[in-house]
Amino acid sequence: MFTFEIIPVNIKDKQIIDNLVGFLSMRFNANISVSTKIALGEILKYYNESRGQLNALELLNNLQFKLISNPSSRFVIMINSDAYVEDIGDVFGISKPGWGGIVFIKRLNPIYYGYPFNVKIYTIRIIKQVVHELGHSLGLPYCNNRRCIMSYINNIFDLDNRLVFLCRKCQLNLERLHPGILKFIV
Ligand SMILES: [Zn+2]
Ligand SMILES: [Zn+2]
Repeated sequence: MFTFEIIPVNIKDKQIIDNLVGFLSMRFNANISVSTKIALGEILKYYNESRGQLNALELLNNLQFKLISNPSSRFVIMINSDAYVEDIGDVFGISKPGWGGIVFIKRLNPIYYGYPFNVKIYTIRIIKQVVHELGHSLGLPYCNNRRCIMSYINNIFDLDNRLVFLCRKCQLNLERLHPGILKFIV
């Protein structure tokens, strides 16, 4: 059985974490745990002052040495910050096959776009981005289905227009890679 370890950093709203854990437990046969292994101070080393963003790739490369995964575990670091990758630009998340992913939730918050806070919209966007990065970390490539959460996303409109989960093809692909990982396939 898989273990997904969620590590929130600088996230005060506990409801968001509870909703994410609830969703992942509903869809995956996995132990979902929440821990506080990463302190904000460790993350801030990767903050680029001039951009006002975290360097996602440097952060990922360093966290891999701190958090050691095994074949049946994945990490999901959730950081209330904005991030970039050199030569790519702003990113909502980043992942590493076999290890896990990091999701940067600041630009998933409606407040970032001048809208009032809405916990439902915020939570759904976070779930989508977490499922996307988890999918990559479990071996799924990008999907050609524009509605699928594994399709390429580079703005908030694309994210909002995606399904909250994997398309049927990606679900079957995931089951082939990790038999029994999904509770059900639709
Ligand atoms: Zn991706
Ligand atoms: Zn798909």
